[in-house]
Amino acid sequence: MQIRLDQIGDQPYTWNQTRSILAHELERGGLTDLGPVIWRGEIRRVATDFLLYAQLSYEQTSTCSRCLGPAIGRVDETLELLIQIEEEAAKEEEEESEIELTEDDMGVLTLAGPQFDLEPLMREQMQLSVAMRSLCRAECRGLCPQCGVDLNLAACACNREKIDPRWAGLAVLKDRMVDGEADS
Ligand SMILES: [Zn+2]
Ligand SMILES: [Zn+2]
Repeated sequence: MQIRLDQIGDQPYTWNQTRSILAHELERGGLTDLGPVIWRGEIRRVATDFLLYAQLSYEQTSTCSRCLGPAIGRVDETLELLIQIEEEAAKEEEEESEIELTEDDMGVLTLAGPQFDLEPLMREQMQLSVAMRSLCRAECRGLCPQCGVDLNLAACACNREKIDPRWAGLAVLKDRMVDGEADS
């Protein structure tokens, strides 16, 4: 969706779309399915710059990294961006005027001209929202490393008395503390 920023006047430019995007289009391996994507927002003129405020919400399904089952997560992101057009930004520098941002984490985007495309912005934001490691639920028990059974669904007879790797670090720490006490 191409927008001409220089055509935005006193009224902000607004959009509100429901999109269907295929999971594989995002090129993130863990992602298997995407629900309808609601993408809406507005761009308003602030002196010579533009302020973009957008919301992105959808449901995404990825592969649980413990049991390999579906991990469904809801994404609700808001995005605030200050958009500058290069020629205008250069002019401002000459005038030595400073732009003060009220929010530290607000991104600044500098464009070469007034042409702006919302599509790559939406896709980039979606890529960032795909978790590197997702779980179907926090307490997912995963697969048995020996027989492969899904421990959420069934128990198995394998001997798994070894220390859970998640607690191994704590066990080492405990040993050290005991050693420390013995030295003093
Ligand atoms: Zn799981
Ligand atoms: Zn087993």
